[in-house]
Amino acid sequence: MRLSQMLFVTLREDPAEAEIPSHKLLLRAGYMRRIGSGVYAYLPLLWRVLQKISQIVREEMNAAGAQECLLNQLQPSELWKESGRWETYTQAEGIMFALTDRQGRELGLGPTHEEVITAVARDMIRSYRQLPLNLYQIQTKFRDEIRPRFGLMRGREFIMKDAYSFDVDEAGMKRSYGKMHDAYHNILRRCGLAFRAVDADSGAIGGSGSQEFMVLAEAGEDEVLYTEDGQYAANVEKAVSRPAEAVPSSFKTYEKRETPNTPTIASLAKFLDCSPTQILKNVLYQVTYNSGMELLVLVSIRGDQDVNEVKLQNELTKLAGDYKATAVIGLKVPDAEAQQQWATQPLPLGYIAPDLPDSYIQPSKTLVAQFLRLVDQTAVELKNFVTGSNESGFHVVGANWGSQYPLPRLALDLRKASVGDRALHDPSQLLQSARGIEIGHIFQLGNKYSKALNATYTNEQGEEVPLMMGCYGVGVSRLAQAAVEQSYDKDGIIWPVAIAPYQVIVVAPNAADQDQMAAAEQIYNALNQAGVEALLDDREERAGVKFKDAELVGIPYRIVTGRSLQQGKVEVVTRATKASQEIQLDQVVATIRQWIDAELAQ
Ligand code: ATP
Ligand code: MG
Repeated sequence: MRLSQMLFVTLREDPAEAEIPSHKLLLRAGYMRRIGSGVYAYLPLLWRVLQKISQIVREEMNAAGAQECLLNQLQPSELWKESGRWETYTQAEGIMFALTDRQGRELGLGPTHEEVITAVARDMIRSYRQLPLNLYQIQTKFRDEIRPRFGLMRGREFIMKDAYSFDVDEAGMKRSYGKMHDAYHNILRRCGLAFRAVDADSGAIGGSGSQEFMVLAEAGEDEVLYTEDGQYAANVEKAVSRPAEAVPSSFKTYEKRETPNTPTIASLAKFLDCSPTQILKNVLYQVTYNSGMELLVLVSIRGDQDVNEVKLQNELTKLAGDYKATAVIGLKVPDAEAQQQWATQPLPLGYIAPDLPDSYIQPSKTLVAQFLRLVDQTAVELKNFVTGSNESGFHVVGANWGSQYPLPRLALDLRKASVGDRALHDPSQLLQSARGIEIGHIFQLGNKYSKALNATYTNEQGEEVPLMMGCYGVGVSRLAQAAVEQSYDKDGIIWPVAIAPYQVIVVAPNAADQDQMAAAEQIYNALNQAGVEALLDDREERAGVKFKDAELVGIPYRIVTGRSLQQGKVEVVTRATKASQEIQLDQVVATIRQWIDAELAQ
């Protein structure tokens, strides 16, 4: 492609709308333009990158035995009502764009396709003989993200590859999952990215096991905890660990003490001159279920620990049936305004005890009259602990479960693992932390959707059983930007060769110089013939501008038909290292071809 004929517009200044380097660079280099909040036009250079990523994804999915299809984006609400997700997706999280057509039918714009694919399977899979099966598509997804940001990282319209596997039983599902796990490794390796597969929370999608593929980068929105020995890596939302040992309590007898101005753990520990590990902290949450029921939850946890709200929400979801619900649609620490709705008297905030009386709650038709009391494992083992007294300005010391307070029935893992914690598999390994960009997510769904939508098959014994499913996503557009976030310098993007929009740019420094232009044209044509994807900068611009643009856009190799032409040579510059060398005119194409092939073989 000739630059003189392309839509090629670069900016010298960073656009104000962009915060992180990859977003700035993709805008500056003319890869995309913002059209609306979280909505981007993918311009020709970016479209080539996206197609290359899609092709790598496609090859690896096909190699793993999956079949490509293309599903509908307009999804009837009936399907989502069958799975029970219509409300969660349109109201609670509100992530699905929903609309009503002229006949009054409700539709959603596909944020994901479990319902649609399960409906297809219900209709078409009859017998175990048709299994296993894995179908995938590469397509635009729509999600009404509350905070779209960082360009393609969190868009409201973005490209995803999603795949869905169907198997006869759990062992089959695990095999399909394993194949996708390996395919994802291949995809990310071939795209030239540094990544880590981590244990992940299954979130609103549901199911049992799941892993995320994280591209490591400072700008990542996710925190990954891992051990040096490579045995453990998890998203912080899911991570488990051994907490630090609690310091044995110095309080031997139970008594109430005046502790003025100590509403925080830090201030209390300082006032009593004790370790936060001797304190029992009681955190209040307000939960809303999709049945409309509301519940107040008191979580008791060791003072040096924090509640992991993802774990808490998962546990509360398991209890949904008790509240005639299927999902949690709201979880918050109630602020003053929320407390006014139900508190019979001002709460002793900062001084709450695990036995905060239920009489604080003014029950209503939708509000449960008792606190649900939960205790984190770390707090179960505490002895002679310090905790609130339900009276502002006072705490108790030397308290014990079973003596002063009944131990809550539900003792769960609700704590947030954090950097420096000891690993479960080997206490000598300490958890380390890294930032990651979630590029892929693979799930073992089990029969959650097949049961809900009644997608069954007949097994060898002639019984009708629900299909066992897995689902597997890759954020194709997010991956493109993550590649930039992982690989750039002060002058611009450094694309991995495998996903660069073009592999080579040929630059004639002076377009008015006929020899330079003729040599550039000749090399450009020869590159095309050799199957190398080349750009020719034939614009009437200064050499400096051309070089700057080539670096900004990030084409892996630059061939310059400059001064060395007189010796029958051209200059070749590698973008990543800026290393430059002179190569004989008649060898340059073969050399470049070899370099590219070596890169693509990685
Ligand atoms: P996140 O936790 O980042 O919101 P998710 O868990 O909702 O993502 P999945 O439903 O697992 O995402 O979707 C599969 C993949 O699609 C993700 O791993 C990610 O790469 C990509 N993706 C999800 N949401 C977006 C978005 N808003 N913009 C771009 N890519 C996205
Ligand atoms: Mg995810």
